[in-house]
Amino acid sequence: MRGDLWPRSLQRIPGGVNSPVRSFTAVGGTPVFMARGSGPFVWDVDGQCYVDLCLSWGALPLGHAHPDVVAAVCRAAEMGTTFGTATEGEVELAELVSSAMPSVEMLRLCSSGTEAVMSAIRLARAFTGRSKILKFAGGYHGHADSLLVQAGSGALTGGVPSSPGVTRAVSGDTLVCPYNDLDAVEEICAAWGTDIAAIIVEPVAANMGLVAPVPGFLQALRRVVDRVGALLIFDEVITGFRLGWGGAQAMFDVRADLTCLGKVLGGGMPLAGYGGRTDIMRQVAPSGPVYQAGTLSGNPVAVAAGLATLRLLQRPGVYVDLAARTVALSREWQSAADRAGISCSVVHTASLLTPFFRAEAPTSLGEVLQSDVKAYAAFFHAMLARGVYLPPAQFEVGFMSLSHGPEEIASVAAAAEGAFACLRDGGQ
Ligand code: PLP
Repeated sequence: MRGDLWPRSLQRIPGGVNSPVRSFTAVGGTPVFMARGSGPFVWDVDGQCYVDLCLSWGALPLGHAHPDVVAAVCRAAEMGTTFGTATEGEVELAELVSSAMPSVEMLRLCSSGTEAVMSAIRLARAFTGRSKILKFAGGYHGHADSLLVQAGSGALTGGVPSSPGVTRAVSGDTLVCPYNDLDAVEEICAAWGTDIAAIIVEPVAANMGLVAPVPGFLQALRRVVDRVGALLIFDEVITGFRLGWGGAQAMFDVRADLTCLGKVLGGGMPLAGYGGRTDIMRQVAPSGPVYQAGTLSGNPVAVAAGLATLRLLQRPGVYVDLAARTVALSREWQSAADRAGISCSVVHTASLLTPFFRAEAPTSLGEVLQSDVKAYAAFFHAMLARGVYLPPAQFEVGFMSLSHGPEEIASVAAAAEGAFACLRDGGQ
């Protein structure tokens, strides 16, 4: 790796990276500096090519630099990169999202998933006149203060359960339950019911590795919020336009009051949004009193990338195809692990997958934390050495794209065969 970049980075950028999960803290070693991406591949600054199963943390279901998306971005940029005014694309995007997710009757665009969730929480509090929110351990909803409590993703892999700088006053309004534990939800609601503004959930947990909801869990959350007069917020920043055209809410047939979107929504550009019931969304300024704004919100270049991406995802059969590819890869990994006698459970849903280094698929953060993170780190490096870029932490999910065809699946499967054999033999 070009030797100067990492020391220079460490000198001027905290931890050498602009987002903690990019560092190799959880797996050891020096982060790879990427220079270029095309379809399923990325190339580092030395020209080394990798099959990418991280895909900018899920933002690229079409793979890197899809020609239609690049063309849309170039066209938009040539017309002017930002106006700070209303633009036609924003209307089209809100209409398209609403057609995909009927619960999103109105949509407000912003620039990051963190902003989307933070704003949805403020809105839920204002709408209900209540202060508390209920989240789930291991759920990551961005880095807003009130949500950095028992958070997943980098906050988990870095061993920081919540961050210094978050005051007790703020975190005190955040209640936490184990994911998939309805009894705990009922208990908390019995104690705090009339104070709870919203339950926020990643409908398929994807920031502690991939943990699917147990049957009936999401439906039960819907019933609980209806009973206690709270709102149900689905954080679909990962699952939106990933699990299917209608996201997790369509897959599980549960209506959310508010939905947070990001990642795929912007087709690889900084774009996110929150939306939901009209009566709630009308409380947002300027139609209502709940203030939320952004200089670059609904940026025309990002909106163009999002629209181009969503239009391609809207084609019939896309999600069936994505899921089939993910199933094929997961099976290859599972059988390679089994052949090597490595305790590994490959979990997958739609185009998300996680190889958990434990015997069974986990259903909660407690079980996730029993995974052998050293084995994941060894697997990660063995795969990297074989030209496959995985998320650099056990408690994250891998992503597939439509650009990952049979050839890439075969080459990633062969890499895994070698990597699992190495783990068995204690080498790399
Ligand atoms: N919500 C979920 C479920 C996420 O996975 C993330 C980021 O990974 C966020 C919110 C925050 O999004 P962003 O990183 O764009 O701020």
